[in-house]
Amino acid sequence: MLSKPLPSITAETLERCGVTAALDIEGGLPVISPLTGERVASLAVHSAEDAARAIEAAASAFRSWRLVPAPRRGELVRLYAEELRKAKEELGRMVSIEAGKSPSEGLGEVQEMIDICDFAVGLSRQLYGLTIATERPGHRMMETWHPLGVVGIITAFNFPCAPWCWNAALALVCGDPVIWKPSEKTPLTALACQAVFERALARFGDAPEGLSQVLVGGPELGEALVDSRKVALISATGSTRMGRIVGPKVAARFGKCILELGGNNAGIVCPSADMDMALRAIAFGAMGTAGQRCTTMRRLFVHDSVYDLLVPALRRAYASVSVGNPLESGALVGPLIDGAAFEGMQAALKEAADLGGTVHGGARASVEGAAAYYVKPALVEMPEQAGPVLRETFAPILYVMKYSDFDEVLELHNAVGGGLSSSIFTTDLREMETFLSARGSDCGIANVNIGTSGAEIGGAFGGEKETGGGRESGSDAWRAYMRRATNTINYSSELPLAQGVVFDID
Ligand code: NAD
Repeated sequence: MLSKPLPSITAETLERCGVTAALDIEGGLPVISPLTGERVASLAVHSAEDAARAIEAAASAFRSWRLVPAPRRGELVRLYAEELRKAKEELGRMVSIEAGKSPSEGLGEVQEMIDICDFAVGLSRQLYGLTIATERPGHRMMETWHPLGVVGIITAFNFPCAPWCWNAALALVCGDPVIWKPSEKTPLTALACQAVFERALARFGDAPEGLSQVLVGGPELGEALVDSRKVALISATGSTRMGRIVGPKVAARFGKCILELGGNNAGIVCPSADMDMALRAIAFGAMGTAGQRCTTMRRLFVHDSVYDLLVPALRRAYASVSVGNPLESGALVGPLIDGAAFEGMQAALKEAADLGGTVHGGARASVEGAAAYYVKPALVEMPEQAGPVLRETFAPILYVMKYSDFDEVLELHNAVGGGLSSSIFTTDLREMETFLSARGSDCGIANVNIGTSGAEIGGAFGGEKETGGGRESGSDAWRAYMRRATNTINYSSELPLAQGVVFDID
């Protein structure tokens, strides 16, 4: 038994979402709320045999789901969006309890799920291919798109539900069953999402068994999906470390992969920037979600002519930002996920100081009654881009550096492994367009006069280099969940060969 009763706020919230799993399994997977540092549940974990069964069930579901007309598949996603709207408060609360986000960010994450469902419903009538001019008379050439197969979705702790839905909503309308391996740090939100999905399934009526499943447990369950030839596509969100393992394994079996990995996102503040706007955008981008977004701003290059204007104002914002339990106090900066994140942050700050950096903030903040890891966000003025500045530390650290030459700052901007998100603050048309051009930011997301974080679902989301190259969510990201066939139809009475090749048999 647990030493303490489950906090009723978690149990009640889960119950309202329809979660029926036992929450106090002895020796189970402990779920710790970063808000308090206390265990809120202990869950049964799935075994390797469970994972194999889930894959079989999904493979069997694929055989019938792929034949359901896409607009009808969209109807299931439409119903899910309706159920999500009804459960938004509860799900948002789960996100706050498990990932430590503010209520506004928790609700925002659920809103992203609703948005991508709405997008996917429209998409279910728009899964189109091209008709292409052929060189042969009496022929027609076209592309058709078909369901791909089972999609394995592996997700990170910091967005416990939206990235699943970015994948699942598209996969389901594309005709693919999904198996979700959520982070072992946030399995309750996953169970709650699945329970809400089951309400949509019940209303839909005739969906096959195994269309959407959740595997609760650690990396070994992710590995089971990665290693199975029956899983056509792995969409994995998490650290670059994880991607380095997953990518080659999937490639070795010629599976398909969407990798959404770590970033080391930067902003550039130019002399003509609207400083008030830049200040507010940087504050949210760097401190929001306690620096635990893949798109968090981690590096800032400020032109030396405006450095003494912007950076003191940033320091004041850092010193005064509220840190605490966002569910209770309305604080803007919640906790780090765990002690390991805190240790990682402290190690990076020490390394930066050893390299001549001036560290403002970064100490542990005491929050009454919490055995959790709250920190003051850290702003570090660095003499150059070196050491920890070159890598992602998943914590609220913003490294600030001066620049004087625009071409040089572009080089520095791109001189890191991550390639996810980037921004420039300028009102100079030449700087703006250069930043967005072929010799500008090398990231998958390049913004002007907004921060690096807070993407909308309508665009394709993802990044280059060590971010993995994957794209999901909007635009034409749906194509990754389907298989493309090129079809050439001969409606003539001749058999001309392409490229004028002659092969006449008597
Ligand atoms: P993590 O890599 O530790 O874990 C992510 C998921 O991968 C978990 O579900 C974990 O169980 C699973 N996993 C780990 N090793 C695995 C393996 N060998 N095989 C299969 N699955 C495995 O990441 P985290 O600490 O949960 O999340 C933070 C990281 O995720 C940061 O680097 C952040 O930038 C990144 N992230 C990226 C995006 C994006 O869209 N690019 C979004 C959110 C988070």
